[in-house]
Amino acid sequence: MLTDTILVINCGSSSLKFSLICPQTGETLLNGLAERLSSESAELKYSFQNNKQVTSLPAPFDHQAAIDVLVNILKQHQLVEKVSAVGHRVVHGGEKYALPTRVDEQVKQTIAELAKLAPLHNPANLIGIEACEKAFKHLPQVAIFDTAFHQSMPEKAYIYGLPYSLYQEHCIRRYGFHGTSHYFVASQAAKLVNKPIESCNFISAHLGNGCSVSAVKNGKSVDTTLGLTPVEGVMMGTRSGDVDPGIIFHLINQLGYSAEQVNHLLNKESGLLGVSQLSNDCRELETAMFEQDHAGAKLALEIFCYRIAKAIAGFTASLTELDGIIFTGGIGENSSFVREQVLTQLSLLGVEIDPDKNEATRFGKSGVITTAQSRAAWVIPTNEEWVIAEQTQQILSAE
Ligand code: AMP
Repeated sequence: MLTDTILVINCGSSSLKFSLICPQTGETLLNGLAERLSSESAELKYSFQNNKQVTSLPAPFDHQAAIDVLVNILKQHQLVEKVSAVGHRVVHGGEKYALPTRVDEQVKQTIAELAKLAPLHNPANLIGIEACEKAFKHLPQVAIFDTAFHQSMPEKAYIYGLPYSLYQEHCIRRYGFHGTSHYFVASQAAKLVNKPIESCNFISAHLGNGCSVSAVKNGKSVDTTLGLTPVEGVMMGTRSGDVDPGIIFHLINQLGYSAEQVNHLLNKESGLLGVSQLSNDCRELETAMFEQDHAGAKLALEIFCYRIAKAIAGFTASLTELDGIIFTGGIGENSSFVREQVLTQLSLLGVEIDPDKNEATRFGKSGVITTAQSRAAWVIPTNEEWVIAEQTQQILSAE
């Protein structure tokens, strides 16, 4: 019988994901998602013991309403007593938070101040924290920051080639994101190579709608592709990744774009969607390419894979040893095509894909996808919720 479970909350601007997790085993007792919050069509879907339920939310249809419905669900299934703390995913912890942190008034104020670096995410994360504080007054709240794992990067990796005063006065530097995911897959890969994480060196590729590649040296992040914001680095679903900054001025000065339009273009209209002119969804692009010989889909996927391979190859500069390459995220875990395209371009690193293993390792399976004589590459499904539960438990045990 599970007694200590952690409620994990991941709040977006119009959504709230939740899971009730046993921190020791990662077992999920209940999980769900409230979507379209703050609109009349707001609804909450959840799954308990393989039963799926959908319920609409009462007015004002907001995050607080979702949390209140969640409390009722927990009561209905006699789960309230089993929750020992709430762990929150918080996107931006700036330079202040390299570790999981118990939430108090000061921490909330800092998360609010850091909204200038993550205007779409930190305010939503704070709403989730405050809603949970009201609903679970007796429970500790812990913040796990998506930037935290990358706080170990050396200056050469996080300082931009800009006037240093911009860093000193305005905190403009690389922070990186997806830290919890990179940390999780690196710690799982350490088990696969049977070494302590402190002596492991990996390059991990988190490939989902957002994508990032990270270099992990002796178990710590030493470089990553996402930057001050989540637009930098490899190409993503709708985000451009690296572009010549001069393009921005060309768009504004020569083509009459406003700054806001450029922001939208780089974040929402670019990447796989922009190049293919078809979709940001990797599955759809693969289908269009294989079944219709769609030129845009083919080019978008070609650029996507090439840039991931370039990022992986580039990060060998930050390592002296490489135990292997890790794929995770919706695309990394499921697209054998993308993995094959990426790894084929890395033959100089001594990587040789095993086509059968690659094809067989999809849909939640984990394992090696390279031949016996090759440098290893693995698929490892990410589990950020488990890390949040585990780290929340650890901080409470340490207190
Ligand atoms: P995420 O943001 O991690 O949920 O990942 C979303 C991305 O994973 C989307 O681009 C999906 O098309 C992609 N994806 C999910 N399943 C598959 C699949 N079977 N094959 C290729 N891409 C997939």
